[in-house]
Amino acid sequence: NDLTEMDNLIAQTLLLARGGNEKLQADVDINQLIQVITENYQKAGKDVRFAGDSECIHSIKADALKRILINLIDNAVTYSDGLAVTVTCECNRSDILIKVIDQGPGIPPEKHKTVFQPFYRLEGSRSKATGGSGLGLAIVHQLCITNDWEIKIISPDKKGTTVQLRLPDTPHRQE
Ligand code: ATP
Ligand code: MG
Repeated sequence: NDLTEMDNLIAQTLLLARGGNEKLQADVDINQLIQVITENYQKAGKDVRFAGDSECIHSIKADALKRILINLIDNAVTYSDGLAVTVTCECNRSDILIKVIDQGPGIPPEKHKTVFQPFYRLEGSRSKATGGSGLGLAIVHQLCITNDWEIKIISPDKKGTTVQLRLPDTPHRQE
């Protein structure tokens, strides 16, 4: 178990060190990308819901968005003890808003910045056998900076956590 954990830690650290060096951005249907990711969780028996239908085409570095969503959904699943996790995507003219919503214990407002620091884990999770290394959100944060995306935590006291990702700019819509 220790070896597996160390492997995971090294892989995550390398990812953090490389910092999103994906070269090309390309048109991607973001709703479809989220659909594929959430289906993988469902196949693994996790209650992760997504109901996006229409196309939401945007020119992005898809691997960066995938990594961010996986890290956020992993957290939502891990820290909310089996309660449903919902992903939503609003495809607006001026931006795209993606939310990962869970019904877990929430993150106290004074920790909303701290949790994005490498290796930081909240007290409750440290003692829990969740096996995390505290790098997931640091990677998310770094990828958001590289891509000019905005990330924020909305966590009303002890009523679950919503992490909102905003991709500015106008999507290329097909009329
Ligand atoms: P890793 O992601 O590297 O496997 P990790 O999940 O502990 O480990 P982060 O994803 O960076 O690391 O999260 C940092 C800490 O923030 C977590 O340990 C946990 O305490 C807290 N946290 C993150 N997401 C949530 C959430 N959805 N609900 C409650 N606490 C959370
Ligand atoms: Mg994590």
